[in-house]
Amino acid sequence: MSSLDADKFEYEEFTKLHAYLKEAFPLVHEQLQLEVINNYSLLYTWKGSDKYLKPVMFSAHLDVVPVEAASEGAWEEGPYKGEVKDGYVWGRGTMDDKYRVIAMLEAVEQLLSQGYEPPRTLYLAFGHDEEIGGNDGASMISRHLQQQGVQLEAMFDEGLAVAEGAMPGIEEPLALVGTAAKGNLNLLLTVEGGGGHSSIPPDDTPISILSRSIQRLHDSPFEARMTETTRETVEVLAEKLGGKYKFAMRHYWLFKGKILKKLSEDRATDALIRTKLVPTIISSGDKHNVLPREATAILNVRILNGEDEQTVLKHVRKAIKDDRVKIERYGVYTPPSPVTATDTWQFAALKASILDVFPDVLVVPALFPGATDSKHYSNLTNNIFRFAPQVVNRDNATLVHNVNERLSVEVLENSVLFYEKLIRNTCGTEEQEEIVDVDTPEMPWGVSGA
Ligand SMILES: [Zn+2]
Repeated sequence: MSSLDADKFEYEEFTKLHAYLKEAFPLVHEQLQLEVINNYSLLYTWKGSDKYLKPVMFSAHLDVVPVEAASEGAWEEGPYKGEVKDGYVWGRGTMDDKYRVIAMLEAVEQLLSQGYEPPRTLYLAFGHDEEIGGNDGASMISRHLQQQGVQLEAMFDEGLAVAEGAMPGIEEPLALVGTAAKGNLNLLLTVEGGGGHSSIPPDDTPISILSRSIQRLHDSPFEARMTETTRETVEVLAEKLGGKYKFAMRHYWLFKGKILKKLSEDRATDALIRTKLVPTIISSGDKHNVLPREATAILNVRILNGEDEQTVLKHVRKAIKDDRVKIERYGVYTPPSPVTATDTWQFAALKASILDVFPDVLVVPALFPGATDSKHYSNLTNNIFRFAPQVVNRDNATLVHNVNERLSVEVLENSVLFYEKLIRNTCGTEEQEEIVDVDTPEMPWGVSGA
């Protein structure tokens, strides 16, 4: 499991997992090249027959979040046993993200057993610390490939999924593909004061100044803005909803204000159109009758694409309007991702693979509000897709990172199928020509210069 505390990181479990994979997928380990990166991450290379084609990468992570000791008793099946019961595989990591590791390897294993030889090279990249940022795993894999001059045609990571019942008025489940991800920044606010006895307090104390700052930030939301990605999302949905929605999107420039207003009414859609800032930790004082000498707050900021750390800092300073508040970055800053284009054969190949396995869904490009290992690969490709082949609905949405995390065997089977299709659709040339005929006018064949 991934713990922020290095002593609690159970490294030997990764070694056991590596051994298990070797035993479970014999053909993969016989025929693919396997490199162990930074002791615990894995990089498999399935060499393609055409060296002029740029490779693609599928990425997943081997680590899981910890099971809090207090919650262990609440598990119906042991969190680390991998028990199969009532049509589910039970355990920590089954939904996030081990099933994708297993499904990818199983898909390759099956294709190998059928004698399939991919023209294009495929990398399977499995980091070991995604849950705590991926700096020792995915980041090192990315660096390793960059040193060899590798550029990717596309990379496919976890992120969004198939959402059932997500949109009133649309019956079809939505296969949401993350084609952009918001940035992540934490800011530390610090206010210092003179301390003293609480019986004769000054007009302003670190706590009052900090509180006022937080209130001012609350009263100054970031500007609402339609990004390229969210515009695509809304376009696909409006087309499906029909009527006034379709009309409004077709005449976007006329209705832009109304559309933004509508989106800002719900917190889920509001997060798609603006940078969101929220205080998550606040601390000051330890005695009831002593004025604290310091008050601090951490603000978590999810940055909308098109903005960055500097624009956020400018906004925050302007909103707070008080030089007594020190504002600085806290921890690692992840800028918003580049935006992945969808008028490409890579998107068409993904869409075709999704529709093959989930024929009834509506495929929708969308903004991913979180961050995954994919953030470490933007140096290798512009075509990053964040989609996991699992179905999320009211019943299972809360199970990820939670007690009784479990994955239905059906999802696991579908995932194997999905990755098999995705390999054929991205690594095979004939299949691509077919897809491209249907969906995309031009096919920018990736010729590797390196
Ligand atoms: Zn994950």
